[in-house]
Amino acid sequence: MKKSSLILSSILAGLMVLFLAGCSTGSSSTEKNVDNDKLKVVATNSIIADMVENVGGEHVEVHSIVSRGTDPHEYEPLPEDISKSTDADVIFYNGLNLETGGNGWFLKLMQTSKKKENEDYFVVSKNVEPMYLTSEGQESEQDPHAWLSLKNGIIYVNNIKDVLVEKDEKHKEDYEKNAKDYTEKLEALHNENTSRFAGIPKDKNLLVTSEGAFKYFSKAYGVNAAYIWEINTENQGTPDQMSRIIDKIKQTKVPNLFVEQSVDARSMETVSRETGIPIYDTIFTDSLAKKGETGDTYYEMLKWNLDTIHEGLMK
Ligand SMILES: [Zn+2]
Repeated sequence: MKKSSLILSSILAGLMVLFLAGCSTGSSSTEKNVDNDKLKVVATNSIIADMVENVGGEHVEVHSIVSRGTDPHEYEPLPEDISKSTDADVIFYNGLNLETGGNGWFLKLMQTSKKKENEDYFVVSKNVEPMYLTSEGQESEQDPHAWLSLKNGIIYVNNIKDVLVEKDEKHKEDYEKNAKDYTEKLEALHNENTSRFAGIPKDKNLLVTSEGAFKYFSKAYGVNAAYIWEINTENQGTPDQMSRIIDKIKQTKVPNLFVEQSVDARSMETVSRETGIPIYDTIFTDSLAKKGETGDTYYEMLKWNLDTIHEGLMK
């Protein structure tokens, strides 16, 4: 009895050792393989990063340079951004005068990280028909906010897919399948909304925001748009800009104003006080919401904008 229980316990102890050894070598080697396998992707902002994650799935590891809730027009790269860009297999940026406008931070970062265009870094807005700024003296500058139309978002996703396939051919089928599923979902949301927005009465059909970020959105969903300043290289309305938007609003029966999540709300609050028209809600332009909050993916961000703008203008 005594002997057999001794044997049993030594067998158990032996098994335990084997089990533990198996566990530790097993997990560390798996982690290492997975890490080595993943394509290291850097995206300039959270919207592009989310698209890459949707297409790349388990095969990519994505770092977003500009963090959620932060303006991507003007940015000073951190030491971490330089090291992530240097190590990256692929880098995606919006273009159309976004990270390449203003202080042009992105191209400087690519130079510092020794990266080459169309080899290491790729523009996601390729094949998007650009729209231009309308302010005097800026008419030759492209407006960056193409992603606010889902149709353009679909173009971005397909560009991302093409680059991932080129860089990592062995996962081609997965990238193609993910892109197909994802773009079908975006397409359905787009189609639902083109018909819905046609029902907004003419005298209420004016989307008022701080930045003039909604040109592509306006064109896609048939909504007129007005703004305090045209592009977020500014962050407060000048007296001229303020009186222009106030006059414009007074000529309409627009029921509500909107303010964007990544801008200073004070100018819009002044417009609201001066016109007596309330700010209906916050909408998204240049960044996703923080993780876990409403609007924390590209799909949810666009859905929130479309639902909120429609609801606010139908009041
Ligand atoms: Zn912007």
